[in-house]
Amino acid sequence: AVSKKFGTGNSRILVFVRLRPMARKEKDAGSRCCVRIVNGRDIYLSEFANENDYLRLKRLRGRHFTFDASFPDSTTQHEVYSTTTSELVEAVLQGRNGSVFCYGATGAGKTYTMLGTLENPGVMVLAIKDLFTKVRQRSCDGNHAVHLSYLEVYNESVRDLLSPGRPLILREDKQGIVAAGLTQYRAYSTDEQVMALLQRGNLNRTTEPTRANETSSRSHAILQVVVEYRVKDASMNVLHRVGKLSLIDLAGSERALATDQRTIRSLEGANINRSLLALSSCINALVEGRKHIPYRNSKLTQLLKDSLGGVCNTVMIANISPSNLSFGETQNTLHWADRAK
Ligand code: ADP
Ligand code: MG
Repeated sequence: AVSKKFGTGNSRILVFVRLRPMARKEKDAGSRCCVRIVNGRDIYLSEFANENDYLRLKRLRGRHFTFDASFPDSTTQHEVYSTTTSELVEAVLQGRNGSVFCYGATGAGKTYTMLGTLENPGVMVLAIKDLFTKVRQRSCDGNHAVHLSYLEVYNESVRDLLSPGRPLILREDKQGIVAAGLTQYRAYSTDEQVMALLQRGNLNRTTEPTRANETSSRSHAILQVVVEYRVKDASMNVLHRVGKLSLIDLAGSERALATDQRTIRSLEGANINRSLLALSSCINALVEGRKHIPYRNSKLTQLLKDSLGGVCNTVMIANISPSNLSFGETQNTLHWADRAK
């Protein structure tokens, strides 16, 4: 149901919103649903229980939004994958880089959308699976090599999630920005192995000692899938091509809360904001068609320099909760997503 497909030259950003089901905790707290999705595109936010006049909401500021697609809470992982990402996988096989981001507050469903569970694998797993299917369908199957790396940006330092250790140093070489020493896992197939690899990687994400149930809310996780292959041109010269797909589970977009450990936390908060702010600035610059894109402002944007803008495909999935208890966060998230269009 995507109306505007990617062109070949422009770098339009496709923006999607995914509403997750109401959580048990939210139900128990007596919350009601404040989000309504109409026609698979329009989203209405009602702040008060008696606000159900959608024509009126349409005229109110910040209560009505339209995206390339808005996924209701019944949407399956497969539907999300095929609408948002399958085209990017196809493009990667043509040597065109792409990136998919999940943005939203902690608990809004970013990790579920990106990683998912064993029973319901998310975009990361479905993309790799689809990639292998597509590679096998091509006659030149043996010419493809797929490598995975999984890394984290936490507090403006870069860590290898497949082989945790010291922070990695970013270097600029002929191919662009590389994280020195990053594990490149050669993948031959998908399914359980890759899921297990990613789940193990996710356990290595930096968790917050002060809030045990809100793991990795300040860490950005980046899966990079690199496909290298050889093709013959018209005069039978062998050409070496590389396509890269970056799948990013962003840190929680909520305001950094002041806690007792104020200094450490505010430092980290500032850095999270730095990466998210830098990403916002880059996206806004791209959307406005500006020449200068400020990639250098954070580790996250440096790492994604070759996968964001230019001839790349970019997809944003904004995750939201249905509960009126999250009204403010939901509205912030939708505002942010609206500006990325
Ligand atoms: P985030 O990564 O944004 O902090 P999670 O992905 O961890 O949020 O989601 C919070 C909780 O909600 C998890 O228990 C997750 O399994 C559940 N959840 C999120 N999205 C969905 C969905 N679409 N369907 C079912 N459960 C979901
Ligand atoms: Mg998460």
